[in-house]
Amino acid sequence: MPESSTNIKHSLNSLSKTISGLLYKKEINEESLLQIEQWLSVHLNKIRIKKLEDVSIVGEQETDLHTKKDGVFILNTAADIILDPGFQNYQSVHVEHSDKINLSDLIEASTLNEFNSAFLEALAEKKNTKANVLLKTGVNQERMCLLEFDVLASNLENDRLIVYYSFKDLQHIHLSEFQSIVLNNLPGMDVFLFDSEYRYILAGGKEKQKYNLTNSSFVGKTLFEVYKKQDQRRYFQFYNKAIKGEYTEGEVRYNKDVYYIAAAPVKNTEGNTVAGILISQNVTKDKLLEAKLIKSKEEAQRANKAKSIFLANMSHEIRTPLNSIIGFADQLKKTNLDKQQQRFTSLINHSSEHLLYLVNEIVFLFKLGMDKVYIEKTNFSIKQLLSEIADDCEKQAAEKNLVFNMKTDQALPDFIKGDPFRLRQILMNLLVNALKYTEKGHVKLSAEVVRKTKKKIELLFEVSDTGIGIEEKDLAYIFDVFEQGNKRTEKIRGGAGLGLGICKKLVTLFNGDIAVTSKKNVGSTFKVSIPFELANAKPPIKKEKSYNLDDSLLRGKRILLADDDKHNRLLSEVVLKGWETDFTLVEDGEEALKELKKVAFDLVLLDIHMPKKNGIDVIKKVRANKSLNTNTPIIALTANALKADINSYLKVGFTDYVIKPFFELELYNKICNILQIKNNANKSTGNGKPTVEEATITEVFNMQELEKTAGSDKQFFNTMIDNFTENAEMLLSSFKSGLENEDWNTIGERAHKVIPSFKFFKLMNTADALSEIEDMALRSHQFKTLPETINKVSGQIEEIIKQAKAAKR
Ligand code: ADP
Repeated sequence: MPESSTNIKHSLNSLSKTISGLLYKKEINEESLLQIEQWLSVHLNKIRIKKLEDVSIVGEQETDLHTKKDGVFILNTAADIILDPGFQNYQSVHVEHSDKINLSDLIEASTLNEFNSAFLEALAEKKNTKANVLLKTGVNQERMCLLEFDVLASNLENDRLIVYYSFKDLQHIHLSEFQSIVLNNLPGMDVFLFDSEYRYILAGGKEKQKYNLTNSSFVGKTLFEVYKKQDQRRYFQFYNKAIKGEYTEGEVRYNKDVYYIAAAPVKNTEGNTVAGILISQNVTKDKLLEAKLIKSKEEAQRANKAKSIFLANMSHEIRTPLNSIIGFADQLKKTNLDKQQQRFTSLINHSSEHLLYLVNEIVFLFKLGMDKVYIEKTNFSIKQLLSEIADDCEKQAAEKNLVFNMKTDQALPDFIKGDPFRLRQILMNLLVNALKYTEKGHVKLSAEVVRKTKKKIELLFEVSDTGIGIEEKDLAYIFDVFEQGNKRTEKIRGGAGLGLGICKKLVTLFNGDIAVTSKKNVGSTFKVSIPFELANAKPPIKKEKSYNLDDSLLRGKRILLADDDKHNRLLSEVVLKGWETDFTLVEDGEEALKELKKVAFDLVLLDIHMPKKNGIDVIKKVRANKSLNTNTPIIALTANALKADINSYLKVGFTDYVIKPFFELELYNKICNILQIKNNANKSTGNGKPTVEEATITEVFNMQELEKTAGSDKQFFNTMIDNFTENAEMLLSSFKSGLENEDWNTIGERAHKVIPSFKFFKLMNTADALSEIEDMALRSHQFKTLPETINKVSGQIEEIIKQAKAAKR
């Protein structure tokens, strides 16, 4: 192949690619695109072009178009083929003519009539005629072809008739013809080939007609002669880069339209750039569409953001009145109520707590969706976490007469690094479901080590139950969140349908996996695998103590509370009065500052969102102003549970925070801990737990939890108390027989078993004393002192049993 032909091939190749790309953008169908590409590849091998510099492509195209024939036959007047020379450089039919072949034999039967009439007419009337026929070009191969009988050029006297043939199917259109079609007919597009002086060698495309420019307005002229100065500047960079051997693309504004420009270098075999090719396509409509799309995307994002903000605000708005509802119902319970009134207040409490739970879940799901939930990395004891979860579940399982089992791998490390709070959330969601959807049998939790390296460990948690199971067709949708609105999802979600969606998202945040297997009426198993880092240090031990509301430990303490919500202020007033504090209530930040200037408070409770000065403004002032009591403990009261926000509160100087709605005891404990109030617990051995001695101080059997759960169900209420007294009595008798037989193991295990039920009735000191017994019996083996300890606790338990029996309805 001559050298220059390679150049052209190269340039046409890139032309073909660029054209294909642009055609594609205009969404011309694939079939035509393929045809064009095929066509190019067939014909690029056949073209014969002189040196690039000599090419006057435009001229050649035009002449070629009109004179092109694919071949010629010379026939005798009986239509036998005498000669089939073909045309140099054109494909011929390559008829083997050792035997005489009649041209009619090469014509497919369906077009034979046409052939015959044109042939006969030419002979009879001695005039040039034409026929469109199907010409057999090989075995099972025929192609549409135009036959032109050229009587005038023939020599009929000598029995010679010239007939030209030109193939009419697309495959056989010549490159020049294709070029011409492409260049002159591409709608909305222009194509230019130009030399290193920015002079146009070739121009094509229809778009320029819009500006009354033709191909010849370009060819032979330079960029600078064709365009006005300001337009030259815009286009120059593309031409210049192409000439310098670089490919560029971009957009240019010309008149009122926007054009997509692609420019590429045309190189010779040595790799030197000899010319450039530029394609310009009107993309104004696309741009308008794009702008519309961007605008609607932005609008959708804005709407979504507004929705989230609305939701966050709503949750704040809902939590604030909930704070009053829960708080006042609590206070109401402390007053003299008859049995029915007690039940009603319990119901209010129960329902509002459920509502709070739902609001929290929805807000949490939105936070997950907005990537506002982060997985923390703190060292924690996985064993302890699991045993706390098991304690919770044992209690709930007992309420339904279900067996709860936990199995943990011996190889579980003591401490791992991760987010214990979120891990608990995942496991509790699954366990609560398991307990909810199981009526008899068992619920199991297991934890095993799947993989362990020096620094990492992968744990597999399994929650299985013998409950109602899940239908196979529903399994695929089980982790979808409610917002997908899938009919099937709606159907299978009995409750709010948030739990498993939240689980799935949380597990993903942990880089873990969650899967489920289930059989209708047999049970379900949820498997969660999560990678953790191994921790090399113990987590810091929180020395939070529990206090008893009735001990009036805050009596006389000076407390300032600032809250703009009048119901919350009223509630706080009742609570602070109940604690016998010396309190002051204000309704905005400015008033709070005024009070702080006047009095040295022991503690301040500061709402964050307040008019005039908000909580943040106030704390900044207090912490920076030496004339104020800069070190006064200040607790933030907030309905905002976002971790990032809370961290920011702590950063500006809040001592601690309480999320609204809060529970009286929670706030009381927090304040006592901050003020380091000395209560009975402080006489203890220093590990924060009461000694058995202290536990013997009579505790009051507290039915708050039970009332919440039982509501007006008297039978359930009484059964629960019976269960408790039975367990407690069994404990006493196993203490007795254990002491007699020195069976420390049974004593330790029985003590361990009943701890949750004591906690359920808020018998915290006794529960702590029982864990001490468990420890003495099973771990520290203090067998000498154990009998004395057991005797003391037994006395306390006897007293509690009496109280419990009296509490029955
Ligand atoms: P919710 O329990 O509030 O409806 P979840 O997302 O936790 O929402 O669960 C979605 C659905 O999956 C439930 O409504 C229930 O139909 C089904 N499901 C979840 N866990 C179990 C289980 N352990 N046994 C049977 N069905 C379950």
